[in-house]
Amino acid sequence: MKLSALRGNERVKEQLSQQERSRGLSHAYIISGHEGAGKHVLAQLLAAGMLCVSQGERPCGQCPHCLKVMKGIHPDVSTVTGPMEGKPISVDQVRALRSDAYVRPNEGERKVYLLEEADLMNASAQNAMLKLLEEGPPYAAFLLMADNAGGLLQTVRSRCEELALIPAGGADEAEGSAERLSLIKGLAGALERGGELELLEAAMSLDSKGSREELFALLDDLEVELGARAARGGNRRRLLKAAELLRELRGAARLNVNVGQLSGWLCAGMFENL
Ligand SMILES: [Zn+2]
Repeated sequence: MKLSALRGNERVKEQLSQQERSRGLSHAYIISGHEGAGKHVLAQLLAAGMLCVSQGERPCGQCPHCLKVMKGIHPDVSTVTGPMEGKPISVDQVRALRSDAYVRPNEGERKVYLLEEADLMNASAQNAMLKLLEEGPPYAAFLLMADNAGGLLQTVRSRCEELALIPAGGADEAEGSAERLSLIKGLAGALERGGELELLEAAMSLDSKGSREELFALLDDLEVELGARAARGGNRRRLLKAAELLRELRGAARLNVNVGQLSGWLCAGMFENL
C-alpha cells in the first residue's frame, strides 16, 4: 500500500501492506494512538485504499475515488461523531449506521465508516457495534478511532485488527529510532545471555518507554528480534522462554497491569526454572 502520507509508524505500514498483498484488507480496524499520532491520516488512507480503482499501488491518490475521499466528499465514506461536543457515539447512532450499512454503496465497491472516539462509546453502543461487525454486509468496512484501545470491549477488539500509532518525532525521529533499536538489541541480548543484573538494567529502561501503545510496539519488535536470534543459532532454550514470557507480558499489560510492574515480572520469569 502507499501510506507515505502517514509519518513514521513503519511497522503499521508494513503490517497493512503485507495484509493487502496476502489476504486483502480487513473489514474492521481499530486505529489507536494519542492526539497527533496520525489516526485521521491513516483512516483516510485506508478508506481511499479500500475504494481506489487503480491497478497499481493503492491508494493511488489520483483516481476519482481517491480524490473524493481526500476532499472528504466521497458518498461511500461516512464519519460518525457523537451527537454533540463531548458526547460519545450513542446506541441510536449505531443502529442508524446499521440501517445505512445495508443500503448498497453509491459509487464504490465498498462503504467505509469512520467512528470517532469509539473507545468512549458505552457498553450498549459497543454491543450494537459488535453485532454490525459480526453480521454486517460484506462490502461495509469500519474504522474505529480510539485514544485508548483498552476502552473497547474485548469482544469488539477480537473482531478488529488493531493498528497502534506512535506520534512521529520530527527531527528527533532518526535519533529516537536508533535509540529504540539499541534498546531492543540490548534487551534481546540480555534475555539470551541472562546475567541477572544486565537483564534487570535492560528491562528497567522499558518502564520509561511512555504509552502502552509504544510499549506494545516495543514488545512486538523485541519478539521479532528474539526470533531472529534463535534462527541465527542463538541459545534457543532461553530465547523461546523469553518469547513465551513476552506474550504473557503483553496479555498482562492489556489487563491494565501497571507498566512499572512488567520489567520485574520479565526478570523474575527468566530466572524461574532455568
Ligand atoms: Zn485511487
